[in-house]
Amino acid sequence: MEFTEEDLARREKLEQVNKRLLEYFGEPNWHERMPAVDELVCTILSQNTNDVNRDKAYTELRRRYPTWKEVRDADPEELQHVIRIAGLAEQKGPNIQAALKAVSEKDEKFDLDWLKKLSVDEARNWLTTLKGVGPKTAAIVMVFSLGMPAFPVDTHVYRVTGRIGLRPAKLSVEKTHEYLEAIGNPDNFGPLHLNLINLGRQICQARKPKCAICPVLGMCDYPEKQFN
Ligand code: SF4
Repeated sequence: MEFTEEDLARREKLEQVNKRLLEYFGEPNWHERMPAVDELVCTILSQNTNDVNRDKAYTELRRRYPTWKEVRDADPEELQHVIRIAGLAEQKGPNIQAALKAVSEKDEKFDLDWLKKLSVDEARNWLTTLKGVGPKTAAIVMVFSLGMPAFPVDTHVYRVTGRIGLRPAKLSVEKTHEYLEAIGNPDNFGPLHLNLINLGRQICQARKPKCAICPVLGMCDYPEKQFN
């Protein structure tokens, strides 16, 4: 990608935002690094639910089926019952089983380390062929389990980066993954992703951003800041 002056300015701003967020929120916590297939299933379970229900569903899944082979080959209705607390079980159950089938066709031990030999784009392309796996889920698996330089963009990261002016305003969510990967420092991707979510959840909320207490107020381009 060829950088314009604007891209270079955004790269600089992204560095500054990262520093300010680290000062404000500290080094964010992420659960223990898991094997990529575990992270993949856990992230599918997390879609459209909260962390508590995701964790309950994941724990119950691992308790009921100790191996991924057992999950892959489980009775579909029974599996959906086991993960029902995460919601959308009639979609997530089949998606998980189809993903595990595809993963085991590549490696019978359900190992996804072979993805590390690919570029981020190639690995993303393979992961997103799995039903129910979009660019965000793929990027989470890549950055947090495989140690690859991918930048996950969820609804908070997309909103906040748009408001601050860290990406072109009209860029799609999908393209924002690639853009932030191109302009950012890969060493920061995991923590910065988590701190942008912290900012979006706690301060830069969709309807009523709390600009008066925002740690990046001085760098933010959003024209409709709110102070009361
Ligand atoms: S200044 Fe306001 S709009 Fe900008 S990032 Fe902070 S809370 Fe969001």
